[in-house]
Amino acid sequence: MNITTDASVFIARLDRARSEMKRTGVDALILSLGHDMPYLMGYLAMPLERLTMLVVPRDGEASLIIPRLEGPRVQELPGVFTMIPWNETEDPVAIAHALLGAAQTIAVGDQMWSRFLVDLLALRPSSKYVRSVTVMEALRSRKDAAEIAALVAAGAAADRVAAQLHAGDIPMVGRTEAQVSKDISARLIAEGHQKVNFAIVAAGENAASPHHHAGDRVIKHGEIVLCDFGGTMNGYCSDITRCVHLGEPPKEISDAYDVLFEAQAAAVLAGKVGVTCESVDAAARRVIDAAGYGEYFVHRTGHGIGMEEHEDPYMVSGNTTLLAAGHAYSVEPGIYIPNKWGMRLEDIVVATENGPMPVNHANHHLVILDK
Ligand code: ZN
Ligand code: ZN
Ligand code: ZN
Repeated sequence: MNITTDASVFIARLDRARSEMKRTGVDALILSLGHDMPYLMGYLAMPLERLTMLVVPRDGEASLIIPRLEGPRVQELPGVFTMIPWNETEDPVAIAHALLGAAQTIAVGDQMWSRFLVDLLALRPSSKYVRSVTVMEALRSRKDAAEIAALVAAGAAADRVAAQLHAGDIPMVGRTEAQVSKDISARLIAEGHQKVNFAIVAAGENAASPHHHAGDRVIKHGEIVLCDFGGTMNGYCSDITRCVHLGEPPKEISDAYDVLFEAQAAAVLAGKVGVTCESVDAAARRVIDAAGYGEYFVHRTGHGIGMEEHEDPYMVSGNTTLLAAGHAYSVEPGIYIPNKWGMRLEDIVVATENGPMPVNHANHHLVILDK
């Protein structure tokens, strides 16, 4: 499912891709699996062994090479691309080779199976190959109004699940992490997502592992529980982390949470157009370092988000990319004390000319349940 089937949106995006191709000296763009292709023409290919490929010449019409049996799943958009269905006995790479004509520099999608690229290399040994990110990064990382609206809607749906978590609607004590994870997943769907991408539930010492996989661990009174969940709604992703404490938290945990809260708020506020991505990371790290938890904040502060859960730009030390209006990203500092406990607080934020616009508004405090 996609936010738009409006041909004019795709025509405009293909035009922008062609100007990026001109700017970067790319003669043709070839895309297959992954999200660059649906961004440009609406169709997300299934990860099959048969080749689906969009060929975009810089100065010609786009073509979709597609297994004939997959054809009925494609929404045809005249003026956007031409369908070229191939039969089981045909060689789709030879069709791509013919369409590429005299193209010298070819930008290739990251997720095209290597078997097809290897065959293409053999057919066109003198072409030069670059990654599609050369062309696509400038387009996909800056979200347009419809994309921002989709991110806001997905974020609001995730917020509603967070509110249910905070209200105690999701029983915790005596259940396994996996059961709670299943419950959160069902609620993401009930609130409008078509797909759940993850629902991390990590109790007590498990919360010290940032990407813990919810398992058979039974949740007990007296523990912190970290919940990080998100899904895809109308083609765009949500991603939120909230922690609850079952019973009054010990001072060690409430003090650390105050630091986390302040660090996350500082990094959200730092997200002004024109600052570097690494300065957003630094804003959170400064607070956590000053409080003495620096060595326990073991990951970057955030990742871009859009059609994919993790995409450019990344809020990480060393990334000097300047924040621009339309950049959408997570702000998710964490503090993880090995074998004891962990905590993370995460919102999605969109950079705008009027300052950072958080997509999530669910209560940011450590909510106490099972009092
Ligand atoms: Zn993550
Ligand atoms: Zn997350
Ligand atoms: Zn995230």
